[in-house]
Formats: sequence, structure tokens, C-alpha cells
Amino acid sequence: MTGRTQKSAGMDVFKSRAFLVIAFAGALAACQTPGTQAPDQAQQAPSPAQTSDAAQPEGASPVQSSAAPASVARPRAAVRASKHMIAAANPHAARAGLSVLRAGGSAVDAAIAAQLVLNVVEPQSSGIGGGGFLMHFSAASGAIDAFDGRETAPATATADMFMKADGSRRKFHDVVPGGISVGVPGLLRMLQLAHAKHGKLAWAKLFEPAIKLASEGFKISPRLHALIKRDRHLKKFAATRKYFFDADGEAKPVGARLINAPLADSFRLIALIGADAFYSGGIAQDIARAVTAAQPNPGGMTVKDLENYKAVARPPVCSFYRKWFVCGMGPPTSGGITVQQILGILQTRDLAVLKANSFDAVHFIAEASRLAFADRNRYIADPEFQEVPVNRLIDPGYLAGRAKLIRADQSMGKAEPGQISSGSADLGSQMEGAKGLSTSHISIVDSDGNAVALTSSIENAFGSRLMVRGFLLNNQLTDFAFVPVAGSRAVANRAGPGKRPRSSMSPTLVVDGAGKLVLSLGSPGGTSIIGYVAKTIIAALDWDMDIQAAVDLPHFINRNGAATDLERGTAIIALKSSLEAAGHKVRTRPMTSGLHAIRVRGGQLMGAADPRREGVALGD
Ligand code: GLU
Repeated sequence: MTGRTQKSAGMDVFKSRAFLVIAFAGALAACQTPGTQAPDQAQQAPSPAQTSDAAQPEGASPVQSSAAPASVARPRAAVRASKHMIAAANPHAARAGLSVLRAGGSAVDAAIAAQLVLNVVEPQSSGIGGGGFLMHFSAASGAIDAFDGRETAPATATADMFMKADGSRRKFHDVVPGGISVGVPGLLRMLQLAHAKHGKLAWAKLFEPAIKLASEGFKISPRLHALIKRDRHLKKFAATRKYFFDADGEAKPVGARLINAPLADSFRLIALIGADAFYSGGIAQDIARAVTAAQPNPGGMTVKDLENYKAVARPPVCSFYRKWFVCGMGPPTSGGITVQQILGILQTRDLAVLKANSFDAVHFIAEASRLAFADRNRYIADPEFQEVPVNRLIDPGYLAGRAKLIRADQSMGKAEPGQISSGSADLGSQMEGAKGLSTSHISIVDSDGNAVALTSSIENAFGSRLMVRGFLLNNQLTDFAFVPVAGSRAVANRAGPGKRPRSSMSPTLVVDGAGKLVLSLGSPGGTSIIGYVAKTIIAALDWDMDIQAAVDLPHFINRNGAATDLERGTAIIALKSSLEAAGHKVRTRPMTSGLHAIRVRGGQLMGAADPRREGVALGD
């Protein structure tokens, strides 16, 4: 079955805007891995100095490389620049991106260089063994492109691959390590596709910073150390045991130098030959061998699966939010649609008059999120396998009707999905990708005003824990529904050969009424990504907050489960009793977002890095 026809890869913002104007008459602990300890430090904000100490190449001053950036991230004020900017989850990666921007590279060039460095220094989060989604804004034409590099299931995948013989589902952490969870990686094909369209510098040049770091080594950061230490699967496999632990089996300490010669070699080959060097030949053979020979959980991936992988340029999903035009990634991620459903429901009310962290703001946003997640869970899956009614889901008239279900002072409880089409069954209680310790987001604006929002992932922290030639393979197939039927209906997000599992990644670009860029943002965080991104857009646009303050703002979300989650250890906890009085079941938990955002205003670039991880915003 095929979904929507993918007519054009790009979308002219002005044309699409005209069309929509007509239609517009309208952490660690909470998602704790069983049996692991979550040291709080792993998600606390390192001060800028700490961050720099941990991740700065030797010989450089704490926050400045030899070509000193104009500014560095501070805890409470956005970094300002006028030419170009990058915000990313690790200082090494941000510096690599900045050096590419300084060399005249495009936003896509900088994204590739930064992403490859993240593969080296933040191996738990993303890399060429995983996938991602990249949004691109072209300043000259106003066009927005959306590139899909999501992993696909191998040809051997079946709908019940995560079920036991007795008809019960296997546990998440029983199937994550090993080969069964590994999807065919999509990141490199996607980066190459984006580079072919928007790259300025040579492909090979973009690999230089990552090759240098992988071969000369980098110092283990506090977050990487904490995640190695708490992980119960990494020691099961020889390659990861050797790389991340010392001879006594202790997690290598903060500041210890990690050298990844096999990854440097892989990068050299891919730099020279292109992504084909990964999807066929020796690397592809090694990936297939690692997956099929894995113990536990051997999988069924073949070299053919890798050779067949295609990144896809898809139409972006865009809609108005008040006077702004918000564009996100469409299915197979639920991110774009669900963020825009939340915003579309909320625009029936004047949020600007409400205060951040107030009961009314949190209640309305949480209830809108309930409604949006009800639709998400029923209707969104890989569009090549399931018809996803994208336009109806973000239709302003439909969303205005959904908004009427929200009561001012009482929670609606569990929301039902809207009557859009017969669709597939609800996913039920399983919330895929809810762990939220992995994944990375990069936001970039180049000196021509082009922008990138790139979210990439290997799913769980350290993915499947299988390491091949220096990179970790993802466990993205666990983002499929484990139970393929609910009652008599097939579940939309069930596994299948060649299918892409539903994601929550939400790289987002916002433009104004004149088609000028306003925001580039995104975050890791599993299904909570959607809440982090929606709330940051509201904070920046409705509440007109400094972008760093918008990123810092305490989190809350309701994903249409029982609980309304409030971010532990923040001021938002003060709302607990008033929310409970209104019928919310309140749960507090760490909410380890990794928001990286750039706001453009009056010709100025303002960048923010999430204090909950180790990133920085750098610009000139
Ligand atoms: N696998 C998740 C997704 O694609 C992301 C996981 C995370 O953010 O930790 O939505």
C-alpha cells in the first residue's frame, strides 16, 4: 500500500502559505532502564567552564578555540551573532560546524561536519549507524526541504518480531541489545542527499574534523562517562567492552582520552568514496555480519538490505500558528504533525495573556497535547505502508473542534482520537522511544541565511550496543509497536519488511509572514520531544522569551497516558496540587531534553543550548 504521493521534495513557502491562507479560515530516572542507576550528574547542566574542561581539545583555552568564536553559551542569555551560528550538543561538534561556516560552507555542510563529530564524541546519541531527519530553509527562495533518513526494517522483519511464542510481548530491554532491533541505517544516505542539493564545500572536506578527533582522541565528558557507567548492556559485547571500559571492567573516567582508530578509517573511506562505501562492500558486510551473528538476539539483515536503502526527500508538513508558519517533518515521524496539532489546538486561545509556569498555561497545553497524542497514536506510521491523513490532521477547522473538548478547570482524562478515517488501531499503552537519553539535535544558520534543523538518533543510549568499525548500530526497530494487533485491528505502527518505524523526532523551522526565518529548533527526548519543541515555540513566540530562557523553561507534558509529567527539581512542581485538584494525575521526573535553537530577529542570530546536556551555541 502506498501513502500520499510525494510529488515534490521541496515546498515554496510563499505558494504553500497562500494555499494555507485559503484553507485557514481557521532521563535518566523516569525512563529508567531497569537495573541501572541514573546518576543525577548525567543530566545536570554543566557550567560553561565544566563543559569546556571536559570536551575542549588540549591546548585551547576553556571556551575559545584558536579561531575564537564571537560568543559562547551562558546559562541564562542567548548567544548573539550576526553572520552565522550553530547550536549543538557538544562543544567539539559546534566548533567543527563553526569552522565550516567560517570557511564559507553552507548550513548543510556545517551540519554534516558537526554530525560526524557527534558520532565521535557523543557516541551514545547518534551517528552513521543510525538515522535522522533534516529540515532545510533556503533564504533565497523561501523553499523548505525535508529529508528522511529514517532506518528501515530488513526484508526478514515480521509484524510479530518482538512477540514471544506464547503471544505475549517481549520486554523492551530484552530486545534492544543485539541484532534484532537494528534497522538499516539512514543517516549517511540522507546527509549525502542533502549535500547534493545544498552543499557548497567538498564532501571529503567535511570529514576532516571528525577524522582528526577520532584518530587523536577526545576526553570523555561527564555525561558520556555517567551513561557508560550506568549501562548494563555495553559489557556484553567485546567491541564496546574494550572501547568504553578499562582492563578492570570500570567505566573509563571523565577526562580519559578515547581514540577511535576504526571510526577514523571508516570516515576516511566514506570521505573518499561517498556513502556507497558504507552501503556496499566491506563495511556493509561487517554490519550484516554483526547483526546476524549477534548474541543475544541475532537479527536478519543482509548486504542487500543495505544496498537497497534510500533516503527520501519528502514534502514538509507546514501550517500557520497565529502569524507564523511552522514547518516540520512528516511521517514516518509523528513530530511535525503532533507539534502542529498542539499549536493548532492552542491557537484558539490567547496564550500571550497567560504566564509561563502558570496553571492555565500548563493545563491548556497539557490537554492539547493529550488530544494530539490520541490522534498520533492512532493515525501516524510509515506513509508508504499506511495512509496518513496529514492534511486532515492539521486542518484548522478540525483542530478548532478538538479545542472545544478542553475544559478550563478540569482535565478531560484520556482523550479519544478524532474521527478522521477508519485508520488503524491505537497503539495502546506502549510508548515507543520514550527513554530519551540518546539522540541529538543541531540547529544552524549560515551566512546566506539558509538554515538547518537536524535531529539524529541511534534510539536507546548506545543503540543496540553493537559496534562495527568504530560506530554503534541503532536499535531503532524497537520504535515499532511490539504488539501488531489491537482487538480486531492491525496497529498502524506494526513492524514489516522495508518499513520505517514511527519516530517522534521534530526538527522544526518557523518563518514569518514575509517568508523570513524566525526559528530553527529541535530536541532529543523520545516521545517527549514533541512537548519540548511545542512548548519552546510557545515560549519564544507567544511569550516572547529570550530563546535561551525559552529552552531553560521547566518542562511538562501529557502524552495521553495517565500522568501529566512535571520536570523534577524545577519551579513547575509548585503547580502539582492545583493540577491534581483539576483532575491531573501528576508525576515528577527528570526531563532530559537537548533543545538546540536559533532565533532570528532584526538581523541578529540568537542561539540557545540546553543546560540539561553538554551543548553550546557558537557564532560570529
Ligand atoms: N527513537 C526515538 C525517535 O525516533 C528517539 C529517541 C530519543 O530521543 O531518545 O523518536
